[in-house]
Amino acid sequence: MNNTRWPSADARSHLDADVVVVGGGIAGLYLLYRLRGLGLEALAFEAGSDVGGTWYWNRYPGCRCDVESLEYSYSFAGDLQQEWKWPERYGTQPEILRYVNHVADRFDLRRDIQFNTRVVSALFNRELKLWSVSTDRGEVIRAPFCVMATGNLSTPNRPNFPGLESFQGRWYHTGLWPHEGVDFTGLRVGIIGTGSSGIQSIPHIASQASHLYVFQRTANFTLPARNGPLDPVTERRHKAEYPARRKAAYETPFGISGYPPPTRSALEATGEERQAIYESKWAEGGQISFLYAFNDLLVNQASNDTAAEFVREKIRRTVNDPVVAELLAPKTHPIGTKRLILDTNYYETYNRDNVTLVDISESPIEEITPEGLRVASTNYTFDSIVFATGFDAMTGAMLDIDIQVEGGASMADAWQHGPKTYLGLMVAGFPNLFTITGPGSPGVKSQMILSIEQHVDFIAACLQHMRSRGMSQVEAEPAAEQAWVSHVKAVAESTLYPRADSWYMGANIPGKPLVFMPYVGGVDAYKKECDEVVADGYKGFSFAS
Ligand code: FAD
Ligand code: NAP
Repeated sequence: MNNTRWPSADARSHLDADVVVVGGGIAGLYLLYRLRGLGLEALAFEAGSDVGGTWYWNRYPGCRCDVESLEYSYSFAGDLQQEWKWPERYGTQPEILRYVNHVADRFDLRRDIQFNTRVVSALFNRELKLWSVSTDRGEVIRAPFCVMATGNLSTPNRPNFPGLESFQGRWYHTGLWPHEGVDFTGLRVGIIGTGSSGIQSIPHIASQASHLYVFQRTANFTLPARNGPLDPVTERRHKAEYPARRKAAYETPFGISGYPPPTRSALEATGEERQAIYESKWAEGGQISFLYAFNDLLVNQASNDTAAEFVREKIRRTVNDPVVAELLAPKTHPIGTKRLILDTNYYETYNRDNVTLVDISESPIEEITPEGLRVASTNYTFDSIVFATGFDAMTGAMLDIDIQVEGGASMADAWQHGPKTYLGLMVAGFPNLFTITGPGSPGVKSQMILSIEQHVDFIAACLQHMRSRGMSQVEAEPAAEQAWVSHVKAVAESTLYPRADSWYMGANIPGKPLVFMPYVGGVDAYKKECDEVVADGYKGFSFAS
């Protein structure tokens, strides 16, 4: 039905769409919008029962954005960004999900999405230049192009503790939270994990539970979010400046406007000056603001130590019990090299009588028991267990799909020693398959909606480029991919990031190759590179008719 669109389509007899999209989150939705605008037929599959991705699945108490609402939103539609009213400085999960639903309705995107459908495999036939995408419902859809909008934090990681099936209470994962919510009132609860999800949910669960045990393997740095109602004056000003701000965001490392880049090292300031600057950032709230206190916090260990010690000191002053405070004070990684978390009343929660911190850094959880769990010879008894144990990040969702080229490579083989991509957009050896904010992209180190829009715009422009030239196949060149992978690695190694056992490194999943996956050269450098690639006739991509 589409064989007037792609010149080589004569060869295809059962074409179901021009593009198959996997995922109905923020990326999948914008992609559908852009593809429709190009007059292409797209069909998306989403495992969940509705749109939203991250914001559909992560419904745990306290879940909210750590990028300010006015920044964490789509920029592609001027009216939308002017009309939408964000009630708070940082959007809550329900609010963001409402926004994503509004976008899906406003642009009539649901009609191109099949929900409750998981893509299980994708097979490319080089002769026909077609992807055959199979679902868990037994359907096979054929299309020349396939885009994985499968998300970086969409494959929940539940550690394989023995005995979970014997647990007589109820257990939950923050990334698979029941839609009807959970009432912990009067219950004994154990929570495993103190990353962003744990730190956001702990104060909420503690306020309901009769007792909350927090199992901490690694202490994490978190700053007060200073959330509150969005000030109408700030909102008006921001909205008036939207076009300029959105443009300016692309010229920043994290894709967020409004923070002038710092110009001096932490070591150039006196102790008093440093203290005053960190205090003002602490009072202001926000990660970028804090990390922008000085220009070398993420590259110089001695500078980083000054910021880390400032936060440790805040913890010691907030938490009444000095032993608990010391356990909560992170000492094993530089500040900012794992996601720097924003919280509301996190450290204060440990002053409650009904909260106990259990340090499992030396002695891991041995097993889940019918009553709770066991650490060494100590048994803990609960009614509920919460796994705030994160995700098989960046590669999990892609590798859950059996992606192969007939007679060629499989993605599992290609990424056996860690993921490789060209610009986080394509993988050499897999023609006509795009990824959005994949490994090698700055996506997860940025305001992600901005990165998603930039990646989708790149893909849309590439498809348009091909169509106007009668080309039906695009592929990343192996040499270009190798050069990009080396560059991503070199940039990471010039920073402190690899010093943390983070999900950026794959260190949270036993057996996963230890490769630093995101590009930390910044959105600004990345966008410049992409623009140059396009200006240079899609340098590093090869095309065929
Ligand atoms: P997702 O939202 O992950 O959507 C991917 C979708 O693909 C999912 O719905 C999934 O079900 C579907 N899918 C995957 N595999 C398949 C398959 N095989 N078949 C069918 N469907 C499939 N980013 C920020 O910039 N700022 C923040 O403050 C922020 N907060 C976050 C808070 C949480 C709790 C989490 C988990 C992430 C947060 N992020 C944040 C990152 C967030 O993931 C992105 O901002 C953004 O929502 C990603 O959108 P996406 O569409 O790329 O991926
Ligand atoms: P995470 O950062 O990976 O944290 C997982 C936690 O579980 C860590 O404390 C980890 O300990 C612990 N853990 C994992 N396996 C364990 C095991 N076998 N035994 C004991 N503890 C174990 O996951 P997350 O908190 O879900 O966050 C993931 C990412 O999602 C964030 O970094 C962020 O990008 C995004 N997110 C953002 C927000 C927000 O504020 N907007 C909220 C939630 C999530 P170790 O540290 O020792 O591995």
